Amino acid sequence: MLYDYLIIGAGLFGATFAYLAHKQGKRCLVIDKRPYPGGNLYCEEIEGINVHKYGAHIFHTSDKKVWEFVNSIVPFNRYTNCPVAKAPDGKLYNLPFNMNTFYQMWGVKTPAEAQMKLEEQRKDAVEKMQAAGVSRPRNLEEQALTLIGKDIYEQLIKGYTEKQWGRKCTDLPDFIIRRLPVRLTFDNNYFNDNYQGIPIGGYNKLIDGLLDGIEVITNTDFFNDRHHWESVADKIVFTGKIDEFYDYRFGKLEYRTVYFDTKVLDESNHQGNAVVNYTSAEIPFTRIIEHKHFEMFGEAVYKNPKTVISKEYSTEWADGMEPFYPVNDDRNQKIYAQYKDLADKESNVIFGGRLAEYKYYDMAPIIAKVFTLF
Ligand code: UDP
Repeated sequence: MLYDYLIIGAGLFGATFAYLAHKQGKRCLVIDKRPYPGGNLYCEEIEGINVHKYGAHIFHTSDKKVWEFVNSIVPFNRYTNCPVAKAPDGKLYNLPFNMNTFYQMWGVKTPAEAQMKLEEQRKDAVEKMQAAGVSRPRNLEEQALTLIGKDIYEQLIKGYTEKQWGRKCTDLPDFIIRRLPVRLTFDNNYFNDNYQGIPIGGYNKLIDGLLDGIEVITNTDFFNDRHHWESVADKIVFTGKIDEFYDYRFGKLEYRTVYFDTKVLDESNHQGNAVVNYTSAEIPFTRIIEHKHFEMFGEAVYKNPKTVISKEYSTEWADGMEPFYPVNDDRNQKIYAQYKDLADKESNVIFGGRLAEYKYYDMAPIIAKVFTLF
């Protein structure tokens, strides 16, 4: 065999695996069907701005080992994600749900006042569920109503979530909404993690650093010549779609995909923030990303007379599109479980990442997962 590992997919899982294996002296070959490595981290430079071509990526973790690891590849900046939401009522709200949001929504000024308001709203939701004979939230809507109440659910959650997932909140799993913190402090930091940032110089620096010294072949689809590729290495690390790996024998898994309408504007500062969510069902896109704010702060924003924005539209995935998010509803989880059974029996194939594990992974847990394999 020419290689110890054939790594299929040059995204974060594949690149991290290759880096660690290479360090141990293993011979690695990475192949990817796209024209460049990086998976969905890939950035394209437009007007001197790193444009997150596959959507906003913000690295966040409390895992010191993971943070030190990525910073050893490329130093990270101090970007802190503080998205703002434009709601159906026309007002702007801070996210995640915190004292600023509660003040904007209800005019409450202290944690005690906010707490009272929240309890009042939660009580309503719990009573409705009890009347229906339900003790625990069965879906995202019930989870949101018992977590944060009707006012915020209607202004900031329902429209956004149904656009993003193309499904009713009553048909979505409750865990999705538990990704968002609820706080009684004036803290707009979207994440609870100890560490957060963007690689200085963009994500391509992270990927290029991970893949430094490793053979990478792009524009190469494993499935176009599976026989050949299976013969080049002792082991395969597969980061593509698990259902495709098994020829869809148990049926196709569903994904959501995202489409970006990207424009260069002749102004320095379009929306004053990297991320503005549009939570109304009437507006077709879910958010507008203004990419320069990931890496340019304060006066630096005005040094570049131009800016690049991307409107993000979410649609159902179909063949030929890029899959972004697994749809972890019951039907898909059942199909995935069957593929997982097969995967567990493989002795020479390692499955990893959002598509191969059919899991809504963030970036840092991907790296932590690769660590466990070494
Ligand atoms: N969400 C919402 N309103 C918002 C932002 C997020 O209701 O303004 C919900 C929505 O259901 C979404 C989930 O929170 O799917 C998780 O959001 P997150 O920002 O973590 O999603 P990602 O950035 O991974 O797309």
